[in-house]
Amino acid sequence: MARIALKVDVDTWRGTREGVPTLLRMLADAGAGASFLFSLGPDHTGRAIFRALRPGFLQKVSRTSVLSHYGWRTLLYGTLLPGPDIGRREAATLRAVRDAGFEVGVHCWDHVRWQDRLLAEGEKDPDWALREMRRATDAFADAFGMPARLHGAAGWQFDAHAARAQAELGIEYASDTRGEHAFLPVDESGTVLGPPQLPTTLPTLDELIGVGELTEANVHRHLLAFTDEEEADQVYTLHAELEGMRLAPVLARLLAGWRAQGHTLVALRDQYAALMPGDLPRHRLAQGSVEGRSGTLAVQGRAFKRA
Ligand SMILES: [Zn+2]
Repeated sequence: MARIALKVDVDTWRGTREGVPTLLRMLADAGAGASFLFSLGPDHTGRAIFRALRPGFLQKVSRTSVLSHYGWRTLLYGTLLPGPDIGRREAATLRAVRDAGFEVGVHCWDHVRWQDRLLAEGEKDPDWALREMRRATDAFADAFGMPARLHGAAGWQFDAHAARAQAELGIEYASDTRGEHAFLPVDESGTVLGPPQLPTTLPTLDELIGVGELTEANVHRHLLAFTDEEEADQVYTLHAELEGMRLAPVLARLLAGWRAQGHTLVALRDQYAALMPGDLPRHRLAQGSVEGRSGTLAVQGRAFKRA
């Protein structure tokens, strides 16, 4: 059967304090490995409230109950309240994750800023991604006393500049994209841009719940159908703010279901350790979209065939 890597995106201060401890208990009970990717700088989630003015976001707020997941207080950070610095204030929480045996890595410095601005800033200033990412890797090193090896971009916002920044900052492998299988990200000439990508292969709960007949009560069956009899490595992204809080019962059903299907639940490092990075297929980094999520995100593009 397959190895399913559980990639936990931790987006907010509240998710760090409330969602992460719940996930640690649930994953330990299930005997599951996982990789936690932290937001290490200020929580500016409140700026997302301005996105509420955009019609697409409003629809999503009502569909996935963003307010009941995040709470009003979180939505005020970075707008009416100053954004708490997560890496500094929650360093003990972060270290407890590593000390419990889970993999830790970098999600971002400022989630809202990265997600909103990466692609536009990169067109004007090729070093923007490097500066932002360096803030995050510096804060990671401060919190953990060791350099970051793993990166998973906020909101799957990722491009060639960010891939080059990873190479410069010593990131060894990453999960910034959506795709089918592990690959080396290359440009149009086939030149490798950055470390190997282990893309998210499965849909996320917030992309599924509310679509068609899918509800919190039955969405696990839909997801488990993707992995039934699956032999190839998969990556599932969960959120501390969702599966670690209100959607914890859904996660419990998924964990039980995957184990019943015979899969092993692992960290990304366990999948990476089994790869031969130099032999990975080369794929272009592309911008695309996935069902149930608004806007564009980084995807595994066309394969590059060596001449
Ligand atoms: Zn995130």
